[in-house]
Amino acid sequence: STNTIFKVDIVVIGAGQAGLSSAYHLGRLGLAVGRQFLVLDRNPTPGGAWQHRWPSLTLSTVNRLHDLPGMQFSEAVDTSSGEARASVAVPEYFAAYERKFELPVYRPVTVKVVCERSGRLRIETDREMFSARGIINATGTWETPVIPDYPGAAQFTGRQLHSHDYRTPDEFAGQHVIVVGGGISALQHLDEISKVAGTTWVTRHEPRFRDTPFVQEDGRAAVAMVEDRVRRGLVPGSVVSVTGIPLTPALRAARERGVLKRLPMFSEITEDGVLWPDGSMQKADVILWATGFRSSLDHLAPLQLREDNGGIVMTGRLATEVKKDPRIHLVGYGPSASTIGANRAGGAAARELAAHLGLI
Ligand code: FAD
Repeated sequence: STNTIFKVDIVVIGAGQAGLSSAYHLGRLGLAVGRQFLVLDRNPTPGGAWQHRWPSLTLSTVNRLHDLPGMQFSEAVDTSSGEARASVAVPEYFAAYERKFELPVYRPVTVKVVCERSGRLRIETDREMFSARGIINATGTWETPVIPDYPGAAQFTGRQLHSHDYRTPDEFAGQHVIVVGGGISALQHLDEISKVAGTTWVTRHEPRFRDTPFVQEDGRAAVAMVEDRVRRGLVPGSVVSVTGIPLTPALRAARERGVLKRLPMFSEITEDGVLWPDGSMQKADVILWATGFRSSLDHLAPLQLREDNGGIVMTGRLATEVKKDPRIHLVGYGPSASTIGANRAGGAAARELAAHLGLI
């Protein structure tokens, strides 16, 4: 019932890679399930945002997925072919993981608002109400797709969609699709769609491709840059802008088909296409916005964690602790917005928050 308030020391919000890693580490520190910590997740089933990824994203086309701490992916899922859908295989793995470590995940529960109440944090949801001494927020980015504003967008009579709602290229067979964005998602969309439809590719900046494979050093440098930004309270920024896009065999083939000819951003959207400042235009049936995501943090708004520029000043060993309020950790945010980063951040956040609250 909504009258009951469940009191617990730590609430983890979100059960993706970041939330599960945090919960695993809280358990390892000896905190009692249910009384000292629990996890709230909005999704109906295990898998975090992975259960919503487009079907053509397979284990061989994702960048690289790191195992959660304490259990290998291959223990739960047959990965031999590589062709398994990420949207099926990752949820299977997460489900097995939650069972193996008996993680206390309650779902579906949507956290609406977190606010201050008598020295504790009150967590209002679409179901019960919770009261905690600290929270580890691990809500990811999937539910906050970003579509930039362009004049004329409302008069476009074709279809506009974000990567968030992209399913398969077949939907666009025989049409003309404008793909907007310079990240890995945009390139995967272009590669697939260009096999069944006409495409135009536009990006704000000249994309940087790299011929050499991505090595650990690059990853470290990119993460260090984002970590430096959040420690200074800036909005995290995108990692691809630092690392460049590795030219996979699929992308090389797309380049040979002439698909990777990039145009600068259009300045206006018309009824049936887009217009550039020099007056040139392109007709289109579809505009596909592969323009990224922002951290889903709206439920934390009452806590006023943000600076005027929209950033949050982060501190702690892996920059997971909110400097203004050490009862709150953000994992999967900024430098830890990757499967490997989320793993490590979960460990750091669990230990630091438990220590701050005197639980270990
Ligand atoms: P999520 O998996 O998004 O989990 C967040 C959970 O919190 C969800 O279950 C959500 O329902 C829940 N939630 C959100 N808001 C609330 C709320 N208010 N109340 C309750 N619950 C809530 N990273 C890699 O390392 N390798 C890759 O190959 C890779 N590929 C990617 C491909 C795509 C298309 C995208 C978009 C991202 C990719 N990433 C990849 C980045 C990836 O998002 C992260 O690595 C990681 O999976 C994110 O985990 P998370 O736990 O932070 O978030």
